[in-house]
Formats: sequence, structure tokens, C-alpha cells
Amino acid sequence: MSRRRLVYEGKAKILYEGPEPGTLIQYFKDDATAFNAQKKGSIAGKGVLNNRISEHIFTLLGQIGVPTHFVRRLNMREQLIRQVEIVPIEVVVRNVAAGSLSTRLGIEEGTQLPRTIIEYYYKDDALGDPMIADEHIACFGWASQEEMNDIADMAIRVNDFLSGLFAGIGIRLVDFKLEFGRLWENDYSRIILADEISPDGCRLWDMASGEKLDKDRFRRDLGGEAEAYQEVARRLGLLPEGEANMVLDLDTHRKKRGK
Ligand code: C5P
Repeated sequence: MSRRRLVYEGKAKILYEGPEPGTLIQYFKDDATAFNAQKKGSIAGKGVLNNRISEHIFTLLGQIGVPTHFVRRLNMREQLIRQVEIVPIEVVVRNVAAGSLSTRLGIEEGTQLPRTIIEYYYKDDALGDPMIADEHIACFGWASQEEMNDIADMAIRVNDFLSGLFAGIGIRLVDFKLEFGRLWENDYSRIILADEISPDGCRLWDMASGEKLDKDRFRRDLGGEAEAYQEVARRLGLLPEGEANMVLDLDTHRKKRGK
């Protein structure tokens, strides 16, 4: 077992002290939770896939000038990251109506939104991550106006880039969640992208079939969640092609389960 100092354990990841000051090791678990951890389970191999997928996406975002906490992948389940002070706000970007937006406002899932929506949620498990407005963020000092401008700009940039990246591999980026952190340098801080980007926090629909390739398979008991995550990794070119990594056939899987 690891002797490293555990800094924080979340639902899907563990943070350990890194090898140098200002760094952490982010460990990806197979644990899956939904509905504020009321539903718990595990998706075999998810941690390995999310580590790879998030590495890939953060590396590409870094290449287009979006600052991120990612330094390098260390092994199958771990990556080295820069330590940040997490802004206690979950940023959700939506292109297509789904999930809580559809439930809350009665808009049919799959409706293309006429413009991209950014929503903010206060990161607090005990409160169930309530949706908040800019006014709450300013009133309670969770982030400055300047920081919020940077966050919104980066969220739109990430959305534009990822929408194109996924469209290129036949996947519709419906919505996703981002987290940001403050990177301190002496007395100054700047906002960088933190956490992860993976099928755990994105809705990814196959463009041809509409098949869900994300955590909704777990949330909604659709089955085939490990296969869906593998399919995303495969289309991103992160799994070698061939017999051992056969294309995941969700159709066959569904027929077997009678769904
Ligand atoms: O549930 P809702 O429709 O608000 O989720 C919007 C998007 O944000 C989904 O892609 C979901 O995976 C992600 N999300 C998340 N973590 C949360 C809440 C939402 O990753 N705590």
C-alpha cells in the first residue's frame, strides 16, 4: 500500500502529496456515484480510462493556450498535477438540453439550445450542489468578478474546442462540468482549469445512433458503462485497435440485456 500522505479523498479520485512542493498526485478510482452519492457502484477500468482521457484532453487544451493543472501522467491510474486552491463552483456548460435542465424547465432531452448556456453550482455535497447565480458568487466572495470573467471565457473556449474534437469522432458534446482553481505565485493568483474532463462529467452522445457514451449509462441503469467509456477512449485514439480491444458493440450488449 502507498505510504504517501493522502490530501483529499473524493468520490471518484484521491489526491496525494506530490513529489515536489506545489504538486499533487491525482489517483483515479473505479468508484462511481450519482445523485449526490445516493447511488453508489463501480465501473471496471473507469479510473484507467478517465486518467488517459483526461490526460489527452488537458494536453490538447494546454496546446491551444488554456492553462490547466495537468503536468504529466505517471502511470495507469495516476497523474501529476499542480496544487491549486479549488474555486468552490461547478461550472456546467450546455449545448443541448438534457439532465437537470430538462427536468427543471420541462425542455425535451435532445433539444438543441439556440445558444450555449453556462450555469454555476455551489460545490457543497451537504447542500446537494445547489445552482447559484453570479449574484451569489459576488455576495459570498466565492470568486472575484475578474476571476469569473476568466472562468466564463475559458469555459466557452473549452466548449468550442471540445465540441469540435468530439464532433470529429462522431460524438455530440451535450453538456459537461468544469472546475477551476487558483494557482498562487507569490502574492498573485491566476485561474487555471483543474479536476478532470472525462465521461464522468460530460454527456457524450453518439451522433449517428444517439447512444449515450457517458455516466448516464450508470445513473440511468442502462448497462454497458465500461464499454461506453472504452468506446470514447478508442475513438480518441487512446486504445490500440485490434482483437484485444475490439470495438465495443453496445447494440449487442443491449440485446443481451434485453434493453
Ligand atoms: O445533472 P446535470 O444535467 O445538471 O449535469 C450537467 C452536466 O454536468 C453533466 O454532463 C454531468 O455529468 C455534469 N455534472 C458533473 N458533476 C456534478 C453535476 C453535473 O459532472 N456534480
